[in-house]
Amino acid sequence: MEIIRSIKQMQQLMKQFRSEGNTIGYVPTMGFLHEGHLTLVNEARKNNDKVVMSIFVNPLQFGPNEDFDLYPRDFARDEQLANKAGVDVIFYPDVKEMYPKELSVTVKVKDRVNVLCGKSRKGHFDGVATVLMKLFNIVTPDRAYFGMKDAQQVAVVDGLIHDYNFPIELVPVPTVREADGLAKSSRNVYLSNKERNEAPELYKSLQKAVQKLNANERDLGKIKNGIQAHIEEKTSGIVDYVEIYSYPQLLPLMEPKGKMIIAIAVKFSKARLIDNITIEI
Ligand code: AMP
Repeated sequence: MEIIRSIKQMQQLMKQFRSEGNTIGYVPTMGFLHEGHLTLVNEARKNNDKVVMSIFVNPLQFGPNEDFDLYPRDFARDEQLANKAGVDVIFYPDVKEMYPKELSVTVKVKDRVNVLCGKSRKGHFDGVATVLMKLFNIVTPDRAYFGMKDAQQVAVVDGLIHDYNFPIELVPVPTVREADGLAKSSRNVYLSNKERNEAPELYKSLQKAVQKLNANERDLGKIKNGIQAHIEEKTSGIVDYVEIYSYPQLLPLMEPKGKMIIAIAVKFSKARLIDNITIEI
């Protein structure tokens, strides 16, 4: 496995891969790897000759009061895990390499961002789209793998790839969970023991909502209230949002119809957790 920190070297290696006829599968991450990330790598290995992972905690996608400095990092551990999972190249640039000076052209995401996390994290998806614009141009992948854990991100990347004609196939991968249902996340390490025990209730509240929809409940307001009440009763977390939208358009729905996402965000003392389920009615 190669570890590359320079954009120039990365571009040279990707050019070499291509000239040798290899396809490239790409897994962008912020590191502190867990089974969620490694599942994306496994998927990438299935359909590509080479697998590239980037590890970059992107300052542009963190707000001024968010956890950029506190975001967990452990490159030595990531390196071992990535190597074992069969990653061929880790692209591990520092902030100066990616942003040597202020950008003269910025990316602003217009659709699919005024709801869910985009609403409470202003500018977050502009930061995501900006860094991906650069990373896609550097890595030149055939396929890019993203987790449905961050379903709004998948929706935004879908727009970016289509609008800017990246010749990249977006591959969404289902959320990987702990045995008790909690979605795996690098931020889970910031839960206290008590919060960690409560956290599986997030997924349970979503499953309950799906059961209601399957039992023909048509009132989306009632379903959202049910989720909120469940979380408030069973956890010490504070509900940031409970929403149901069409997916991937993320438009409001008057009633259950077509492909939908039920998404929640809950603030615990040191970590804000998100989770979602997509279903088709
Ligand atoms: P992050 O390092 O948090 O930016 O995540 C990198 C990629 O891994 C993103 O595409 C995430 O959606 C994906 N990912 C994170 N957690 C999970 C999970 N529990 N299951 C599936 N994919 C995940």
